[in-house]
Amino acid sequence: MGSDSDRLVALLRGSSRILLFTGAGVSTASGIPDFRGPQGVWTRRRPVYYDDFMRSEAARIEHWDFKLEGWAAYRDAQPNAVHRSAVTLHRAGKLLAVVTQNIDGLHARAGLPRDRLVELHGTNSEIECQSCGRRSDPQPHFESFARTRRLPVCACGGFLKPATISFGQQLREADLGRAADAAAACDLVVALGSTFSVYPAAEFPLTAARRGAPYVIINRGATEHDGLPAVTLRFEGDVVEIFPPAVAAACD
Ligand SMILES: [Zn+2]
Repeated sequence: MGSDSDRLVALLRGSSRILLFTGAGVSTASGIPDFRGPQGVWTRRRPVYYDDFMRSEAARIEHWDFKLEGWAAYRDAQPNAVHRSAVTLHRAGKLLAVVTQNIDGLHARAGLPRDRLVELHGTNSEIECQSCGRRSDPQPHFESFARTRRLPVCACGGFLKPATISFGQQLREADLGRAADAAAACDLVVALGSTFSVYPAAEFPLTAARRGAPYVIINRGATEHDGLPAVTLRFEGDVVEIFPPAVAAACD
């Protein structure tokens, strides 16, 4: 019988199809604010719903204005030790997938290949055309919008929007399918920095655990999965302090 830390290292070492599920607690370590927290942006901004964005130019301007306000923080944010640990597990041949609720794009920026990454709520690191689906770099669009206050438009004429899932917008079927596939096939699931308050995202780690995969939760503060019989190990504390050393020990 070792400590919980030893047990985590042993689980990581003994697994070859690990599913990592990451939430806001991983982003905050990179300086990204928690939108749902008490200081969150939704305490002073009213969200623009997707149907309104598609219908109303005023709503599109409101949404671009909101996204412009946060853009510099997202653009300049750097991956932290948890993002790098996911890449370490991938290079060791142990990672099945990262399924993230985060929209900061930092898993990709840390070097995780796209085919290992499911960004359930989309990403702020790309702009997406709502007609043709073409993706592009946000920086020129934000510069243009800040200067002219005119909405950027795709070459096809479609509306451009940061590639995050808006309020009232469906999650992408392909992403939901890939997350479900990972939950069905993993041999270990580790949830990092999530309280599991947002569905359907929160279902995926639980689906894996109920199938019999060991389920490890690392979070500072209570989560909605605490106390469930499917939970194998529960660490209370900072994901950046707890997870990377365990990965380093398991992969050396
Ligand atoms: Zn287009």
